[in-house]
Amino acid sequence: MPGGNLGPGIVVESVPPSREVGRIDEESGSISVEAGAVASSVDARLRASGRFLPFLPSSARWCSIGGMVANNAAGARSFRFGTAAKWVESLDGILPSGEPFRLSPDRPPPVEFTRLRDRLVPIAAEITSGWPRVRKNSSGYALDRFLPSADAVQLLVGSEGTLGFVTRIELKSAPLPESRGLALLAVDSPDELMVLAAEARRTEASTCEFLGRRLIEMAGLVRDSELGDLANGAYALVLLEAIGEEKDVRHELDVLQRLGRVVGRGALTTRDPTAVDRLWSLRHAASPTIAREADRGRISVQFIEDCVVPPERLGAFLIGLQGILDASSFDAVIFGHAGDGNVHVNPLVDVRASDWRGRVRRVLDETTELVASLGGTLAGEHGDGRLRAPLLQRIWSEPVVRAFRTVKETLDPRGIMNPGVILPEAEQDPLDHLHPRREAYPPRDGP
Ligand SMILES: Cc1cc2nc3c(=O)[nH]c(=O)nc-3n(C[C@H](O)[C@H](O)[C@H](O)COP(=O)(O)OP(=O)(O)OC[C@H]3O[C@@H](n4cnc5c(N)ncnc54)[C@H](O)[C@@H]3O)c2cc1C
Repeated sequence: MPGGNLGPGIVVESVPPSREVGRIDEESGSISVEAGAVASSVDARLRASGRFLPFLPSSARWCSIGGMVANNAAGARSFRFGTAAKWVESLDGILPSGEPFRLSPDRPPPVEFTRLRDRLVPIAAEITSGWPRVRKNSSGYALDRFLPSADAVQLLVGSEGTLGFVTRIELKSAPLPESRGLALLAVDSPDELMVLAAEARRTEASTCEFLGRRLIEMAGLVRDSELGDLANGAYALVLLEAIGEEKDVRHELDVLQRLGRVVGRGALTTRDPTAVDRLWSLRHAASPTIAREADRGRISVQFIEDCVVPPERLGAFLIGLQGILDASSFDAVIFGHAGDGNVHVNPLVDVRASDWRGRVRRVLDETTELVASLGGTLAGEHGDGRLRAPLLQRIWSEPVVRAFRTVKETLDPRGIMNPGVILPEAEQDPLDHLHPRREAYPPRDGP
């Protein structure tokens, strides 16, 4: 994702040489892992020691730790715990020059990084003023993290394999919570969803996830004996999680129960582990539910699947987006991270129709315009890939795009690492690598 990560060139697969899924430092709780380790195995290893990775993405069962770091991936709990960037302590790898590196905040970075920072610091104010005011971003290079801290780790995280190859990663972890509870709320409009998300940011909730109307319908939730009343006619269902010590979870659920009385149409709360798992399964069912549509000839095509807007513009984004989808007659399943203003949009495309590419292009063009006008970015957690690279100039200010080019030219002067990813090559078209196929879908029982 998105639009195909594989361009022409040499594919390097970083399968770990051993079955070892990481060494835990008992004192700090950090874990050191091979980049090719599967994310969920690393999390399972930590859980066996009473710890976990709180930013784990829904794709954890298939994705590698290296890919997760390269995309600055995030999960439902990133609402409270931040994205991968916050949890990476150090990185080992190989620079495009062939030199090995070890990056960590407490040791000087290779000279290339110092040279780069020296070139960018004089224009730091221009870069900052053109930076989007979003809570999550995995588009472009993370100059917002690198310039103030001079921490080269932060520049590599989210750089999508364009600046170096990562071989080993040291990650921080968090203690497993003693208790967890969930609140399910329902809202009647995009603006109400935005207000609820704003209120949720004032609580201690660890997630603020939403399922849009089409997903509620497709998953049959309106007919559900427990959830039907809440779901029937709702614009969205919102999942707010409380984790921590038992007394704090009880208190938090009371807060969320009251919130549901003020915003929206009530709340259903629970601390019962079976009921908690069942409510989580609603969110995890999103991808398999969408995948079922492929049997009916409609494929969810990932081309506007990860937009993120400033939180106070979430309502305007959702209303504008619906207008764009309606104008091109696309049915779409919408869900995502309401608390972070990060929306996963899944237009269901009949790829047997002769005009599907033209309609996809129009929707991509109009959505890019909408996101730019609202001061957002096209990727909250999936990165730019080859699809969004040609759109960079429409989203980011001219000085910022120039700074991104400086990053690439300084660290990979021969342009050998993932060419066409983040920064486009000449004549690169966003839809060049978009080849939707049913087989591209995760297994039905996937997250
Ligand atoms: C159904 C589904 C659900 C998803 N859910 C989420 C989600 O909840 N949150 C989220 O953030 N993302 C999600 N994603 C997107 C994606 O799976 C994740 O971001 C994942 O972390 C990427 O890891 P990967 O191993 O699949 O990387 P790949 O797709 O293989 O690679 C991603 C990029 O990283 C680069 N890369 C990979 N390994 C290295 C390395 N060792 N060194 C340098 N560069 C490297 C690649 O070249 C590529 O540019 C989802 C995807 C799908 C299909």
